[in-house]
Amino acid sequence: LAKSCGKNQVATYTVGVDKVVRERAVLASDIRTALFKDELELYYQPLVSGADGRLSGVEALLRWHHPQRGLVPPIEFIQLAEETGAIRDIGAWVLRTAALQVSTWRRELPGCADLELSVNLSPLQLGEELVPEVLGALSAAGLAPGLLTLEVTESSLLADLESARTHLGALRSAGCRVAIDDFGTGYSSLSYLSRLPADQVKIDRSFIRDLDQYSGAVALVKGIIDMAAALGLDVLAEGVEEMTQQVILGELGCPRYQGYLFSRPIPVGEFGAFVARSAGATCAA
Ligand code: C2E
Ligand code: MG
Ligand code: MG
Ligand code: MG
Repeated sequence: LAKSCGKNQVATYTVGVDKVVRERAVLASDIRTALFKDELELYYQPLVSGADGRLSGVEALLRWHHPQRGLVPPIEFIQLAEETGAIRDIGAWVLRTAALQVSTWRRELPGCADLELSVNLSPLQLGEELVPEVLGALSAAGLAPGLLTLEVTESSLLADLESARTHLGALRSAGCRVAIDDFGTGYSSLSYLSRLPADQVKIDRSFIRDLDQYSGAVALVKGIIDMAAALGLDVLAEGVEEMTQQVILGELGCPRYQGYLFSRPIPVGEFGAFVARSAGATCAA
């Protein structure tokens, strides 16, 4: 590829990089004000249980309505929010907002009395302020700690395992659960899992995507599910898009799923309609 690049291409490429760097700097400064400018919104993606796909919970997922760029996905701004430190305030807002929302749905939506909540945590949130922040959000919303799962990645746990263990440990003692997000993409060995402060494993979507493609993927996912069971951990498969994938996962003993097969992440205003539709589908079946 390098050989085929003439001078012109190299020049274009350099201009492109400059532009990307400039745009990144602008976004980084914009994300600092996004929260008080009311540009952030939470979408909620259903988490389902069992072969009948019963709605058991939701994962809160951030969206940013940028005044010029429109909807910016988290992959383009979470890292910036971490680099600027804005993620601390944003993360606290996510906890409070999502807890209030789920509490409201539990009271008001038919069939949602047992709805649970999962929230993603940045490694920057795993410090001293985490415990009061989480417990404060729960009590303000009137949600029991047992209804909340905190999602962290292996790498954010391992960045400061002692601190994570202390603060997540305190929250687990209070009843909250901890999930290892994107499991299988980190560097830690499987044996490490038994030493992490976790209650659930979320199998990364890259493994699920390959499930109906080759048998090696089935063996890998089976390995993760069996190991999670042996360690007494709950397990959920991310990124389930095809019925065949859910069938294979069911045969392997995976009890929980999340993915476009069931629903994309949905804005608050559309959640009631989703619940009504799913209830209708269950009755019709
Ligand atoms: P995640 O926590 O692993 O969330 C799941 C991501 O997979 C979401 O992307 C979701 O839309 C996507 N997804 C779900 N089902 C499917 C599927 O069937 N197929 C495909 N292709 N994708 C699926 P999203 O919303 O773009 O979020 C990306 C990541 O941004 C999240 O990954 C999480 O790491 C981060 N994030 C989102 N919200 C927050 C937040 O409030 N705080 C923090 N710290 N991170 C967040
Ligand atoms: Mg997550
Ligand atoms: Mg994930
Ligand atoms: Mg992810």
